[in-house]
Amino acid sequence: MKNNPLENARQQLLDIAKILELDKKTIDRLLKIENLVSGEISVKLDNGKTKKFKAWRSQHNNAVGPYKGGIRFHEETTEEEVKALSMWMTWKTAIVGIPYGGGKGGVAVNPKTLSKSELQRLSRGYIRLIAKAIGSDKDIPAPDVNTNAEIMGWMLDEYEKIIGRKDPGALTGKPLELGGSRGRTEATGLGGSYVLDSFVKKLKKQKKAVSVAIQGFGNVGSYFAKFVHDSGYKVVAVSDSKNTLYNEKGLDVGKAFDYKAKNDTFKGFVGGKLLPSEAVLGLNVDILVPAALENAVSEENVSKINAKNILEMANGPVTPKAEEILANKKILIVPDVLANTGGVAVSYFEWVQNLANYYWEKEEISAKLKKLMDSAFAAVWAEYERMSKTTKKATLRQAAYSLAVQKVVKAMQARGEL
Ligand code: NAD
Repeated sequence: MKNNPLENARQQLLDIAKILELDKKTIDRLLKIENLVSGEISVKLDNGKTKKFKAWRSQHNNAVGPYKGGIRFHEETTEEEVKALSMWMTWKTAIVGIPYGGGKGGVAVNPKTLSKSELQRLSRGYIRLIAKAIGSDKDIPAPDVNTNAEIMGWMLDEYEKIIGRKDPGALTGKPLELGGSRGRTEATGLGGSYVLDSFVKKLKKQKKAVSVAIQGFGNVGSYFAKFVHDSGYKVVAVSDSKNTLYNEKGLDVGKAFDYKAKNDTFKGFVGGKLLPSEAVLGLNVDILVPAALENAVSEENVSKINAKNILEMANGPVTPKAEEILANKKILIVPDVLANTGGVAVSYFEWVQNLANYYWEKEEISAKLKKLMDSAFAAVWAEYERMSKTTKKATLRQAAYSLAVQKVVKAMQARGEL
């Protein structure tokens, strides 16, 4: 049976609700998706025909602040996936301590089959569908899988035309010219590298003695690979949906990054050998970093994992069943809701800059990001140690969820909602 991300997201919440002894009313409230906008976008193709695409915006919880979360363009995107991702956003924003709730959007489309002008019409159509539900004080979308700054630029333009005024804080991850933030494109990868540094310190290891394998070489995976390589880790493998590029002595990630950007493949790169795409998951490394899509490690392939620890840069890459099996093998997982929050953190900085109309230098952004990520990691680790005193089975995910859920519950209580 195909793993359902919404079931997984609910399971993770139920798991921590039991530990925190939450009552049924609170659990039901936290399981609820507050709003869902859904519909079909009609896009006029270049050949004159019209094609329809299913699309959603899910708003999970806004007790702490406006909904916040990316927009994904992927042919396998479903309503349930978007709902799960919106729930994970609620926990992420709470963990990293920024004043947002959780939302997420998606369109079931393979954008590689569209021309640039078709993609622009689709992006504008999506905004027309969700325009009433978003805004800088309501719900603030951003890029996710297969969406980027250029698409955010078209979307902001469409949104501002609809509302008849400027509201640059309504979307983040925009081009710099439209109020984007310096450092946003690479923020998720950079934030993840700070989390890895904190984790490796706890393991009492030297960076150069830590081997890393990364699944996925898109926005998140490629920048993460670059930052950790440049700061001294041994990156032995990176992968995309076609191949794993492997060199046990360590890859020159900068060169692989440029090669992939130029050729859209690792094929022909001289600094490593090619293995099948899924081989990256079975490598014997210190840290495995799934940075592609959800359910990468599931019950079906978990027995192939040989890594000592996992840092989740994708959303939902390890299913709850696989996590249980890995926990029994004492494999620590640094969860997505902590490790990949760098993107939403810099989206927050972008929004603050938009509201203030005052823009910061990149160094300031990196320093502020490091501070947020370091303190989020320290808080989660302290909670993990506290929980470990009462149960040998505590996980870093439970510790992160414990902090996030308590924060959201307190905000709902403060509103008199619970
Ligand atoms: P992206 O579209 O830029 O890249 C996705 C990458 O995954 C591509 O390199 C693709 O080839 C690869 N991929 C797809 N299927 C694969 C497979 N089976 N094996 C190996 N590689 C595969 O997307 P992204 O923005 O880098 O997002 C990746 C993950 O990180 C997603 O789970 C996303 O939700 C999450 N995330 C993204 C951001 C962000 O700011 N972009 C923030 C937090 C979390």
